[in-house]
Amino acid sequence: MSYTKDQITNRKFDVVIVGAGGSGMRASLQLARAGLNVAVLSKVFPTRSHTVAAQGGVSASLGNMSDDNWEYHFYDTVKGSDWLGDQDAIEFMCREAPKVVYELEHMGMPFDRNPDGTIYQRPFGGHTANFGEKPVQRACAAADRTGHAMLHTLYQANVAARTTFFVEWMALDLIRNDAGDVVGVTALEMETGELYTLQAQTVLFATGGAGRIFQSSTNAFINTGDGLGMAARAGIALQDMEFWQFHPTGVAGAGVLLTEGCRGEGAILLNSNGERFMERYAPTLKDLAPRDFVSRCMGQEILEGRGCGPNKDYIHMKLDHLGADTIRKRLPSVEEIGHNFANVDITKEPIPVVPTIHYQMGGIPTNINGQVVETVDGQDRPIKGLYAVGECSCVSVHGANRLGTNSLLDLLVFGKAAGDHIIAHTQAGAAQANLPANATDATLARLNRLEAASSGEYAQDIANDMRAIMQAHAGVFRSQETMDEGVRKIAALRARVANIGLQDTSKVFNTARIEALEVENLMEAAQATMESAAARKECRGAHLVRDYEHDVTHPTCPLGRNDAEWMKHTLWHSEGNSLSYKPVRTQPLTAETVPPKPRTF
Ligand SMILES: Cc1cc2nc3c(=O)[nH]c(=O)nc-3n(C[C@H](O)[C@H](O)[C@H](O)COP(=O)(O)OP(=O)(O)OC[C@H]3O[C@@H](n4cnc5c(N)ncnc54)[C@H](O)[C@@H]3O)c2cc1C
Repeated sequence: MSYTKDQITNRKFDVVIVGAGGSGMRASLQLARAGLNVAVLSKVFPTRSHTVAAQGGVSASLGNMSDDNWEYHFYDTVKGSDWLGDQDAIEFMCREAPKVVYELEHMGMPFDRNPDGTIYQRPFGGHTANFGEKPVQRACAAADRTGHAMLHTLYQANVAARTTFFVEWMALDLIRNDAGDVVGVTALEMETGELYTLQAQTVLFATGGAGRIFQSSTNAFINTGDGLGMAARAGIALQDMEFWQFHPTGVAGAGVLLTEGCRGEGAILLNSNGERFMERYAPTLKDLAPRDFVSRCMGQEILEGRGCGPNKDYIHMKLDHLGADTIRKRLPSVEEIGHNFANVDITKEPIPVVPTIHYQMGGIPTNINGQVVETVDGQDRPIKGLYAVGECSCVSVHGANRLGTNSLLDLLVFGKAAGDHIIAHTQAGAAQANLPANATDATLARLNRLEAASSGEYAQDIANDMRAIMQAHAGVFRSQETMDEGVRKIAALRARVANIGLQDTSKVFNTARIEALEVENLMEAAQATMESAAARKECRGAHLVRDYEHDVTHPTCPLGRNDAEWMKHTLWHSEGNSLSYKPVRTQPLTAETVPPKPRTF
């Protein structure tokens, strides 16, 4: 069977949003309430989007537990980003944080409460008061199910606002007209296998991360970087893809996340000597230092032979001293995960943990309105008709390392900001020019190549090889040699992607076709990561390269960070597999710039 142009149905909307996670639904809510005709596509039912898995909290300087303000939050986020975050965007996010959290509260989000009725906030990694002086409680939490509570709240609000959802639909490619403006997407209805064009004045990507490019991952199977793939194929560069966050506490062997909220509530990390080793590495923040830092310290303990277990290859996280009552009230899912994935009763014994891939700091470059930007003559120029928010985007507030709970915040703040900007620039029901004649050519070529290649390679074999390469060559500790080798291996793998075949070409719910298309997207994210990483010759945030490590007293590169040469954003271009760079925005909106300094805790 092959797909032909005359089988394709066109549907028109004011706005098409690809992705029904937290970011997509925060944006769609804004648009639907403003009376725009919005279509939201999702590969899964909206409340199964990956945001549902977020556990620990959403940050906002509400100051419910002790003194806090947006300036402290701003400082922590700049420092957490290892000075690669754009300070204007970070200021915007931290100032907006209390507003977007209170909005959710008023929509009915069931946050945990303090005795006085205010929202409960817990400590989290890298959250401090008074510019790094001491930990502060800033993470607004609904037990360890914050994302679940948030996503259901947003879904209900969207249903009330009459947002149109297209459930189990997969967007395949962006449609750009001759001027380069985005005018829609091609999409596959999974149930029927039919192909559509969804035409719109504006397209917003909210497709989440690409965490499945790694072998050991806290991410859902649907996190295949589809937005990144579609953007890359449409000639849009991907920004800062070398920066991937390893979360310190994935269940050893399973990869399932145990929220940083565990350590926020008082859990501690121990090596095989029973030593609370983080006291040595981070005397002030200890177990609550940022994630990149804690992951590396754990790796160091294991490398130096102080790992736990028969193979000395994991670390223990101890929670029993919190007491069963606190664990059941604040961390009920963690207790369940302990039983189900580690066969451990965390109220009685420590649980084995290892750093696991968790979050992509890079993505599709945007400005603070959510508009996707390309760099022209050294300036960011918005691409007309295209926005991106949430984990697929890079605004960039997380820089080289995201602080815990800043992602749920990012998607609320920029989801809403993008919605507001689209409303200001969209007229409901405005006439749209016909789609260009070649609108579906690229998609048809991709689909029909798959349909024709019945003896080609199985997509998941290629995906598994990709994950093994990324795990080995772009891990917590990197070296120039392993990264260069990774570049060669990924380039060779890319050639194999062109040989993926489909044995079953039936149309109805053909998940093999979906997976094959997803692997093409994963490939873009993996190559962007490997190429960007091998080119960055310094240590910054999550990118630690053994060859460039220095101690904190080094005159030009303390801790290996080389601001003179590398305080800049990477841009990877799929076409030609090339890199370019653009400066970090160090001027905040109103605050004083936080000048770079060595990042110690
Ligand atoms: C286990 C875990 C715990 C976390 N805990 C926290 C936390 O406590 N606090 C915090 O701040 N952050 C946390 N994070 C990070 C945070 O949850 C995510 O970054 C965030 O939820 C991503 O939201 P999103 O809207 O960008 O994407 P997602 O929620 O991943 O949604 C993506 C959407 O895009 C759709 N989609 C993708 N591709 C296509 C396509 N081709 N066609 C149609 N639809 C498509 C999907 O179906 C889905 O609806 C956690 C992450 C993990 C993995």
